[in-house]
Amino acid sequence: MNPREATDAQPLVLVADDDSATRFLIHKALEQAGLSVLDAENGAQALTLFEAHRPHIVLLDVMMPQMDGFAACAAIRRLPRGATVPILMLTGLDDLDSIKRAYEAGATDFAAKPINWLVLSHRVRYLLRMGRVLEDLAASEARLAAAQRIAHLGNWEWNLRTDAWYWSDELYRLLGYQPREIMPGIERFLERLHPEDREAVAQIIECSRREQGAYGVEFRVRLPDGAVRYLHAQGEVVGDERGDPAKLSGTIQDVSARKQAEDQISFLENYDKLTGLPNRVRFKERLDQALATAKRQTQKLAVLVLDLDRFKRVNDTMGHSLGDRLVQAVAKRIEACVSEDSPPRVGAFARLGGDEFSLLLPDLKHPADAAAVSRRILEALSKPFRLEAQEVFITASVGIGRYPEDGSDCEALLKNADTAMYHAKGAGGNGYRLYDHSMNAAAFERLTLENGLRRALERGEFLLYYQPQIEIQSGAIAGAEALLRWRHPELGLVPPDRFIPLAEETGLILPIGEWVLRTACAQALAWRRAGLPPVRVAVNLSARQFRDETLAESIAQALRLAELDPQGLGLEITESVIMQNASGTVNTLQELKRMGLSISVDDFGTGYSSLSYLKRFPIDVLKIDRSFVRDLATNPDDAAIASAIIAMAKSLKLDTVAEGVETEEQLAILRQYGCRLVQGFLFSKALPAEEFEVLLREQKWRRAASE
Ligand code: C2E
Ligand code: MG
Ligand code: MG
Repeated sequence: MNPREATDAQPLVLVADDDSATRFLIHKALEQAGLSVLDAENGAQALTLFEAHRPHIVLLDVMMPQMDGFAACAAIRRLPRGATVPILMLTGLDDLDSIKRAYEAGATDFAAKPINWLVLSHRVRYLLRMGRVLEDLAASEARLAAAQRIAHLGNWEWNLRTDAWYWSDELYRLLGYQPREIMPGIERFLERLHPEDREAVAQIIECSRREQGAYGVEFRVRLPDGAVRYLHAQGEVVGDERGDPAKLSGTIQDVSARKQAEDQISFLENYDKLTGLPNRVRFKERLDQALATAKRQTQKLAVLVLDLDRFKRVNDTMGHSLGDRLVQAVAKRIEACVSEDSPPRVGAFARLGGDEFSLLLPDLKHPADAAAVSRRILEALSKPFRLEAQEVFITASVGIGRYPEDGSDCEALLKNADTAMYHAKGAGGNGYRLYDHSMNAAAFERLTLENGLRRALERGEFLLYYQPQIEIQSGAIAGAEALLRWRHPELGLVPPDRFIPLAEETGLILPIGEWVLRTACAQALAWRRAGLPPVRVAVNLSARQFRDETLAESIAQALRLAELDPQGLGLEITESVIMQNASGTVNTLQELKRMGLSISVDDFGTGYSSLSYLKRFPIDVLKIDRSFVRDLATNPDDAAIASAIIAMAKSLKLDTVAEGVETEEQLAILRQYGCRLVQGFLFSKALPAEEFEVLLREQKWRRAASE
């Protein structure tokens, strides 16, 4: 370390005087007093030495060449450590003008020449002590300012007698000023306050001043750039020695971060993040309020629950992020549609979760108004949505619950609107339903079935029954249709018509369908292994399965598992499913066909397809729907249709099966038309596998039919 560098142990004095004799004498006197001394011949040199050695005190002669003492003093004051260092000016005796100028230049004190050496060293010591105190004070002020900056905390004082104000630097910043930019004062403070908070805060301050009480208040300030900051102020009255109120003093802290967190929490509790709409909690609150008003003023109101149809499919095929975007787009569209002026007024619009929304119509004049809103929304949704260059079509189902007819509290109204919504869905979707009391039983059954259906597979409650298909000419059993049965633990044997639509809607049809395929394949192989005559087992495919991309793969797997020749398996697909997406269907059918499977069009005649249209599809068999067979003997129209179907099928080289043959008469007509296969109660209903096996062994119709 440089021995001339200032140390705490031995304070360093910088002496600047152009007179070498004076310099020498000062030097000696101070050294004798135990101080280290640096000499400079003029102001400029003093400045250089000050920067290099950082002395604890500076003695400056007034008159010096190059740079005089005043200029040197002012220059030191501008240096980083120079602001607080004690500077003693050596002036001529009675030179009042110099003394005045010395103070103006920032000198701490002066000593008049000629110098009293004894007094000088004492004075230097005294100034050194004062310098240390000042330095400590400056350091502690800096620490306080830093602490305030970190804590976003400012403090202030208001002298009630002189009306003088003090603001800390941080307080200036909190209020959006530069430190010391302006004279602090109550007007300058109130000026920054948010207009809505100004009056209240002014009153609190005034009140605290009058009543000498403490206060705490939260308010907003508006910064020059328009940003809003939340501040918390605390203050109290400080009394003088006699206890009379002298000052008001306090702190102001920036609580914007806390406020933001609070807002965030309240947002999360009450709003849906995806759409920004109120959530279920908030909706219920609003509904409760509206119900209270409606009860007081004997008004009516309605709750609408809206759910997107087959939204799960959108999610499955397009991915969840696009699914989310669709939900957002739907929310926007509904919002735009209900914010039109046309009555009735919509009191709240919320997202209940997933793809489910709800609306509140307070003060409903007429139930038709709720229906009108529903229609308007459905209409708005019917236009395609554009998502990432894709056009998406979506429909929705709406259920309406009304107060007072359908319930008097929030829970009941929402539940019943929900039930009505499910009925709208059950009717095919893209529609609305007003709740009525008969809906509850159906909803209950649906719920029971749906819950049961989820467990039925695991619990082995499904069975396959087999119904024979007989060749009219020979009477031989040529095939079997596998028909699904559900043995419900409480409801008994549930027919497929009651649970297949539900399984389709919930997506459970996929695992169930796979089970059907595997079981049917295994059964076909078992009969073959048992040496029974070969029969083709036909399995029904639902629309959902048919659209499933993994269909071909899971069929191939079922065949592999059972080591079954594809010839042994047939697939039945209804006419309407085939027609739904004609171009996609051709591809799927071709793929299945290439695998060697036989494909039947089920329930043929109930759709709108012309036979020639069917030519485009690679199919093998037409199954004439039961409704044409039923009145074959009595209704000439049906007979004509059946006859035409069979004739045209023949020309297209398609096989025909007539379904639901119950009488000899029907059979005779079908034989006459040239239908090859029949299936119906006349021969047998669908039977458990063991009983079907008996039929296979007996072949009891063989001879009889060929006679
Ligand atoms: P479907 O494919 O048209 O099956 C023929 C239906 O007609 C069967 O009803 C059968 O029992 C019935 N039936 C047969 N002969 C006669 C008759 O002479 N008179 C009358 N009145 N009915 C007759 P089931 O078993 O109740 O099946 C109903 C529908 O459920 C089936 O119609 C089919 O669409 C569907 N289904 C059955 N099993 C499955 C399956 O494993 N998967 C799928 N996706 N759907 C299935
Ligand atoms: Mg069928
Ligand atoms: Mg059928």
